[in-house]
Amino acid sequence: MNIKENIEAIRADFPILKREMSGLPLVYLDSCATALKPQCVIDEVVRYYTYLGANAQRGDYEMAAQVDYALDAARKTSAEFINAKKTEEIVFTSGTTEGLNLLALMITNQFLKQGDAILTCETEHASSVLPWQQAGLAKDIPVNFIEVDQEGRITPENVEKAFVQYPNTKVVVFAQVSNVLGFNAPIKEIAKIAHDHGAYLVVDGAQAVAHHAIDVQDMDCDFFCFSSHKLCGPSGIGVMYGKFELLDQLRPIFFGGESNARFARSCDSLVLKKTPTKFESGTLPIEGALGMATAMRYLMNIGLNNIHEYEWELKQYFLKRAQEELQDKIKIYNPNAQGGIVTFNVYDKGQLIFPQDMASYLSNKGIAVRSGQHCAKLMGEFLGVPGTVRASIYFYNTIEDIDRLVDAIKDATVEKCLDIFF
Ligand code: PMP
Repeated sequence: MNIKENIEAIRADFPILKREMSGLPLVYLDSCATALKPQCVIDEVVRYYTYLGANAQRGDYEMAAQVDYALDAARKTSAEFINAKKTEEIVFTSGTTEGLNLLALMITNQFLKQGDAILTCETEHASSVLPWQQAGLAKDIPVNFIEVDQEGRITPENVEKAFVQYPNTKVVVFAQVSNVLGFNAPIKEIAKIAHDHGAYLVVDGAQAVAHHAIDVQDMDCDFFCFSSHKLCGPSGIGVMYGKFELLDQLRPIFFGGESNARFARSCDSLVLKKTPTKFESGTLPIEGALGMATAMRYLMNIGLNNIHEYEWELKQYFLKRAQEELQDKIKIYNPNAQGGIVTFNVYDKGQLIFPQDMASYLSNKGIAVRSGQHCAKLMGEFLGVPGTVRASIYFYNTIEDIDRLVDAIKDATVEKCLDIFF
């Protein structure tokens, strides 16, 4: 679909875009935090509650069978969305963070031994660092960090070097797309390096899935986690993908009514259900799974490559105006990251406008952006600033949205930003 030609129709799909913020038409530039929901996703959630209603994978009546059918279809759509080889490679979780935590616990406890090590990088989101640090405590398994290049990119050369420095690395964990700088990591090359050294590759796909066509088979990653809410689906649901032979070897962390096929009084009588159901121990957010699949179909219909190109075009427009009109006012940290994430700070006569103050000022102008450390606390050390402002552009944004942002930045002063609070 040509997004530019259809932008009005696309925007009409998102009822929230009709609302105002601070008395002005809303400019939503925080889609990396969570994406807005089209009417079809909202309708699908409502359809579950108004028409389907029953629990999944339990009932023997027609309405329950309809829920089972819809949930199976959602799993199939999720597999298609990331080009998984088998539907059974899709485990429903509550989101990226839960998937990454489950993997850290299961892999550390079941696949690793004392002396092994984890490799990540200094610009990662907390959920690619903390779960492994905590899971590794009991076995004394350290998390090591590779350096990124000057711009903040993960390079295959640095990953290769890290295997020389930390030869006991058994797991590599990276975000495909950084939520702060937006660079797209060369996952396929990194997977090859990791596998050549006998390590698993776990990918945090939270920021990638909504902006790139994902092919887990081509990338050859071992695990890939993402959240529905970043791709226009409901919150509280996501996917933990794993290669079937690996998922099948792993024993779940949670147990319950849905994960067991049989159990008796003795502990060793437990027979688990097959992969992936053995990981889904209780009632799933069924409406979430159905809504997520609707969101995936919606995005596939627009075309992930079209989405990526459109965002990059709008970002380039922002960069052009910034270069022409905001030279002394703005420092942009990621001009070369192709996509919709613009990370910057604003200055007033050489003085930094504190990013949170800038975000509040923009809010007063009807513009929603994120500010602070963006859950990637080590990134601040890398950038050498206490925080940044992040505008994240998505396919429902317009040139006019970018104009409103540039005009607001142009007009911002330290005084005006502080005036909001007094
Ligand atoms: N990783 C990255 C790169 C993210 O941007 C996010 C969301 N900010 C997460 C992980 C965590 O996602 P969630 O909160 O949906 O679990």
